[in-house]
Amino acid sequence: SASSHDAIVIGAGAAGMMAAAQAGQRGKRVLLVDHNHEPGRKILISGGGRCNFTNLYTAPDRFLSDNPHFAKSALSRYTPRDFLDLVEAHGIVWHEKTLGQLFCDGSARQVVDLLLEECARGQVQMALGIPVDAVDHGDGLFRVTVGGTAYTAPALVVATGGPSIPKLGATSFAYDLARRFGLAVVQPRPALVPFTLGGDEVLFRELSGVSTEVEVRWTKTRFREAALFTHRGLSGPAMLQISSYWQHRTAIQVDFVPDATEGWLLEAKRNSPRQSLRRVVTDRLPERLADALLERVGVAGELVALTDKALRGVEAALRGWAFHPNGTEGFAKAEVTAGGIATAGLSSQTMEARKVPGLYAIGEAVDVTGWLGGYNFQWAWASGAAAGRAIP
Ligand code: FAD
Repeated sequence: SASSHDAIVIGAGAAGMMAAAQAGQRGKRVLLVDHNHEPGRKILISGGGRCNFTNLYTAPDRFLSDNPHFAKSALSRYTPRDFLDLVEAHGIVWHEKTLGQLFCDGSARQVVDLLLEECARGQVQMALGIPVDAVDHGDGLFRVTVGGTAYTAPALVVATGGPSIPKLGATSFAYDLARRFGLAVVQPRPALVPFTLGGDEVLFRELSGVSTEVEVRWTKTRFREAALFTHRGLSGPAMLQISSYWQHRTAIQVDFVPDATEGWLLEAKRNSPRQSLRRVVTDRLPERLADALLERVGVAGELVALTDKALRGVEAALRGWAFHPNGTEGFAKAEVTAGGIATAGLSSQTMEARKVPGLYAIGEAVDVTGWLGGYNFQWAWASGAAAGRAIP
């Protein structure tokens, strides 16, 4: 039967544009649909406007998923180097900021332009700024109705991401569609998201704006990065990272002096007994934070006047401070959504649904979630490329 296209991709974000470009450049007739007028809105605001477009240390262990093996295949077949080649071919100047994180020197707009040019090279047809009215399936064809016009294709790629930051046009469309086709969805939850503090811990909000390097731990997972106190609770890269793992009604542990050697306060007592405890701690921590922590510990005075046991107690407190977040700032502030379309129903080679030939799911819509630091875009490129190369 006649179909208007070889593939319809819904969602002109990172993953959708990559898939459309790859399929288009293989000669496939691709239609790319998005309800936003502007493609790649999350790319535009990403990485503080400079887009942290990949991470050199991309490896499967930097991703969360019910199946930690699922991402391996796509990640190994489309690597950070592959995307970097594209970035360089487009003359985009980049730099490594920290921890393998690659950013544009200029602006995130350059990455959107790169993707649009790659789509143009593949003669991808666009239908932007129009909502999807309906998706139907029958006789081996998908029928997508957009603004009253019906398009058909034997392949449909779901690339509408997750529901984080709804004000940018994020929706749960992918999950609804997946469920309709019999695919399971792993409970979506906000990830890379600031914590909120309540109860006694609301007092820490007075430290709003204070930032310090910490090691944060939740069960066996740990991150060594900056933490930031906010008017609602805890943020900064360390907290965002651990938030993806955290479960409600559990505590996170914070080491506020990750660089100090074991027994550091006792050593200070031996070397300079007349120093105040406050002075020694403020050498390592911002003053307002040191004061707030020491006040709660309830120990003060010159080191010489404090017992070794008391000093050991202070050190233990600073190394394993327990916070009990009462929640997170939710999807409104989450950089990504963890959970999503269950990988068990998808081929890790092609991202095609095992039970629905021709249906593909890619990007953040799938239950694969990266750490902070360019991993989420790398997953979008890799899963998008996997589908784009596989579309028949
Ligand atoms: P998206 O890029 O979100 O694209 C989904 C597309 O689908 C959108 O264009 C949307 O309009 C469209 N859509 C949604 N619903 C519908 C619907 N019902 N009908 C039609 N179209 C629909 N990751 C990094 O790796 N590095 C970073 O620096 C980084 N910074 C970030 C900063 C912020 C503030 C945020 C929010 C996220 C950041 N991320 C970053 C995460 C990254 O942006 C996402 O993981 C990535 O964009 C996911 O790609 P995607 O194509 O799956 O989804």
